[in-house]
Amino acid sequence: MTNQSVKMKNTESKKEVIAQDNPLKEFQESLKEASGILNYPTEVFDFLKKPMRFLEVSIPVQMDDGTTKVFEGYRAQHNDATGPTKGGIRFHPDVTPEEVKALAGWMSLKCGITDLPYGGAKGGIICDPRNMSLQELERLSRGYVRAVSQIVGPTKDIPAPDMYTNSQIMAWMLDEYDHIREFDSPGFITGKPLVLGGSEGRETATSKGVLYTLQLVSELKNIPIQDMRVVIQGFGNVGSYLAQYLYDLGAKVVGVSDVLGGVYDPNGLDIPYLLENRDSFGIVTNLFTEKIPNQELLEKECDVLIPAAIGGVITKHNADRLKCKIVIEAANGPTTKEAIKLLDKKDILVVPDILANSGGVIVSYFEWCQNNQGYYWSEDLVDERLKEKITTSFLNVYHTANHFGVNMKTAAYIEGIRKITEASRLRGWVRF
Ligand code: GLU
Repeated sequence: MTNQSVKMKNTESKKEVIAQDNPLKEFQESLKEASGILNYPTEVFDFLKKPMRFLEVSIPVQMDDGTTKVFEGYRAQHNDATGPTKGGIRFHPDVTPEEVKALAGWMSLKCGITDLPYGGAKGGIICDPRNMSLQELERLSRGYVRAVSQIVGPTKDIPAPDMYTNSQIMAWMLDEYDHIREFDSPGFITGKPLVLGGSEGRETATSKGVLYTLQLVSELKNIPIQDMRVVIQGFGNVGSYLAQYLYDLGAKVVGVSDVLGGVYDPNGLDIPYLLENRDSFGIVTNLFTEKIPNQELLEKECDVLIPAAIGGVITKHNADRLKCKIVIEAANGPTTKEAIKLLDKKDILVVPDILANSGGVIVSYFEWCQNNQGYYWSEDLVDERLKEKITTSFLNVYHTANHFGVNMKTAAYIEGIRKITEASRLRGWVRF
């Protein structure tokens, strides 16, 4: 494998866009609102507002030049009342403890909405994988597993890929864990390569989940997919597969972006050409003479806007300028709570991240089930079960929104906290 092939395709940089104010605050405010609507006593909010467990680790890594660099890493386990915790590990220079805690909470909600037997978790390491060699990345991945090994495991907490981590990193982490435990335990981590017990359909799962969500919205709004003009921010793993699926279904993908900027063509972009000619870092905008800033792309005329890169890109500063009818949040936390209020006023439907991008963790669950059974499924079966699960979850959130007269984001929080609250109550952790 070349050094470049492990460089992640998710190339959006946080510095390109307006930074998310405080993801943990975002999480807590929405959580408070949802638990208020459900009439839960304040102790429920007090319990769920932060992870049950949070580990901060120092990982010394020998760099290729012989020096030792100490990296800072985290693992947050939000709630394990319904089962082991589950969630990815991100490698990114802007990782913060607050962000990891919020992301772990969002994973609990995702697992609640999709009815998976898990609570949420998330890990992160402050590093820039784009400036590290494969060997350095391997040593860092193995060092992280050694540092958190006591609190993770197939029946405790199951990691997976997230921003800038991929199946090769999962393979190194699995190998390190197997060495520590002295037995083969493929169910320790998901998003693995197929030969190490990965699942068919895991790599495309998040994009397929977003696509199935969009198909449901197209039925509800009575806009056929073929008539949709779509802007996708981010041409990483999720954005690029999604662009391909939408193009194949006859939608017009009018805008895409990468770390260098965005491109927009009201007549629709030639997606197969972009996929064919992107470079090994997933950059496509270099194929064009004219680029626009990422922020400008979000404000372009379209039917559906899909932020598929990073958090905090739609805020109170730009929400008023959006010219779409629907926002599908493929990234984690791309729209702030204040922005959603402004979009509600403009009658723009926002399908929240914790529902729309749950395809990844759904198929991670299928991968874990297959590992536990030692029996592997076909890609068609994985897809069929993914579609069934995300459709049921979408309809539950949609009905909850109508029932309580709230937007889909609030409804998703309501659906997301019900199960962990009930499990925590039955375990005697909260009493009401
Ligand atoms: N990192 C992905 C997410 O944010 C997947 C998590 C998983 O598969 O456990 O949903």
